[in-house]
Amino acid sequence: MAEFRQHKFTLDESEMPTRWYNLVPDLPSPPPPALHPGTLQPAGPEDFAPLFPMDLILQEVSQERYIEIPGPVLDVYRQWRPSPLFRAHRLEEALGTTARIYYKYEGVSPAGSHKPNTAVPQAYYNKLAGVKKLTTETGAGQWGTALAFACSLFDLECEIWQVGSSYDSKPYRRLMMEVFGGIVHRSPSELTEAGRRLGADPANWTGSLGIAISEAVEVAATNPDVRYALGSVLNHVLMHQTIIGEEAILQMAKAGDTPTHIVGCTGGGSNFAGLTFPFLREKLAGNISPKFIAAEPASCPSLTHGVYAYDFGDTAGMTPLMKMHTLGHDFIPDPIHAGGLRYHGMAPLVSHIYELGMIEAQAIPQTECFEAAVLFARTEGIVPAPEPTHALAVAIREARKATETGEETVILTALCGHGHFDLAAYDDYLNGRMTDEVTSEERFAAALATIPPVPVG
Ligand SMILES: *Cc1c(COP(=O)(O)O)cnc(C)c1O
Repeated sequence: MAEFRQHKFTLDESEMPTRWYNLVPDLPSPPPPALHPGTLQPAGPEDFAPLFPMDLILQEVSQERYIEIPGPVLDVYRQWRPSPLFRAHRLEEALGTTARIYYKYEGVSPAGSHKPNTAVPQAYYNKLAGVKKLTTETGAGQWGTALAFACSLFDLECEIWQVGSSYDSKPYRRLMMEVFGGIVHRSPSELTEAGRRLGADPANWTGSLGIAISEAVEVAATNPDVRYALGSVLNHVLMHQTIIGEEAILQMAKAGDTPTHIVGCTGGGSNFAGLTFPFLREKLAGNISPKFIAAEPASCPSLTHGVYAYDFGDTAGMTPLMKMHTLGHDFIPDPIHAGGLRYHGMAPLVSHIYELGMIEAQAIPQTECFEAAVLFARTEGIVPAPEPTHALAVAIREARKATETGEETVILTALCGHGHFDLAAYDDYLNGRMTDEVTSEERFAAALATIPPVPVG
């Protein structure tokens, strides 16, 4: 009989954390504020009021270290939370590594990713504020699914602009949103001024998150009962995700281990922030000293190839200006399989701590990601979503390094979703049709040139 080794570190429902963590008050310097695009003055609550309910705006600018999770939100979370933390014994064996590898798995949620952690409170606060409908964009379809699910629980309508390339390649994601009651449009659409204008250019026909955001924002901004919900990037979204890291801290303690490397993929930064921020708090307090690594796609490398500048969150230029790592709001990444990572910018908070040197980043080509994903599936039995395969690829790089250097290494990675709706990507990989597109320097330069000039200081 094989020796007993623990694979799964679980928590009881009663052990689930009941507060979200806000990193901002613990930072050595505050992140630069969002700016009103007309006046270039710091954007105030009233600038966000057409888009978000006041409870969320207050969370966006909060200086409180902890925010209590409302009872009705906890009640929904308990359906799938606390989520499991696994030790990847069989992956370690396959790699022949001396590193210990753990993963925190968010694919157990109703949408199959971490996104419901913020979709549920966003729907809840909008319902409290009397909102009738939420609009949003979706890239891979994960966020749209999560928001449609959350809206169905709180009896809100939900209208979703799905990035064209994803709409065309993932009919089952669209259907899942529709099962939850969502209304889904292919973006760019004919339904909005932004969609008609941007959709006139054939270069935009595959769509992008930036374009889909413009469409959803336009509808919310022009209808009084309608608000907009964003699945990543903003401070309050990152904060809602910190339940992941708070649970992981308790679970690593149960495992009796301390991570030396914490890895997450970054599209807009929310699952990465959700796992890492509570550990960052512990590092700032001097309790632990892990390295934090953001894993991004080589074809949309906002941290490693973008600039740190004020830019729009969307392509049409309707949002407040945010200081972030950006490739330029006009940048249309190649239609790679990790649709959730095809965003031109990075969360201002993640960008800020990257500038402060508190985290590192690596850009990974997609074939290396799928090689990691297939090895992971064949050893751990979970088919990862294309996005977290970037984090798995980095985890494997670090595990190999540990074996070479002999340095004691404990890797914790965010497995933020399953890939059950992404099997077409695996089909391409397994049948030799997946390539690593190289984005030309000219294309990067052209998009960077569209970043609006903002006087510094
Ligand atoms: C949305 C999504 C991402 C990218 O968004 P982040 O805000 O960077 O987390 C990554 N993975 C999955 C599974 C997603 O659904």
